[in-house]
Amino acid sequence: MRQLFAPWRFAYVTHAGAPGECVLCTAASGGEDTLTLARGERTFALLNRFPYTSGHTMIAPFAHVADLSQLDAATLAEMMGLVQRVVRAVQQVYQPHGFNIGFNLGEAAGAGIADHRHLHVVPRWRGDTNFMAVTADVRVLPEDLSETRAKLRRALEVADA
Ligand SMILES: [Zn+2]
Repeated sequence: MRQLFAPWRFAYVTHAGAPGECVLCTAASGGEDTLTLARGERTFALLNRFPYTSGHTMIAPFAHVADLSQLDAATLAEMMGLVQRVVRAVQQVYQPHGFNIGFNLGEAAGAGIADHRHLHVVPRWRGDTNFMAVTADVRVLPEDLSETRAKLRRALEVADA
């Protein structure tokens, strides 16, 4: 999938980290805080670096756990609580027409980070699956991620560090 507007992509390519380094573990440890929206006791929310739409967020446990069945009830409950907060914030900021929320389990299902379980919150607009995405494998993103992050953190009432 190519993107027409991806000014952060160069930074990602040059700071992709050592092979085998888990991007979610790095973010969980606070090592890469440019995408993090909110942190809980067991889980956190961060923007997807290659968003499907503006506000595309991931919710992940701090623990590097691949198997969904290995996540305990308290962690799962906190994840869903964060989903509720993120959905409210995205609704407030972007007024999408709908959401896709879920796990991609396995590469066949589109999982990009297969060994650190995470959940996607993807805001959807009528017509966002337009001819560009369908015919040209290209998506047009309207805004920079730092802008998205600032707006959503305000809506989540997360104090800026
Ligand atoms: Zn990890």
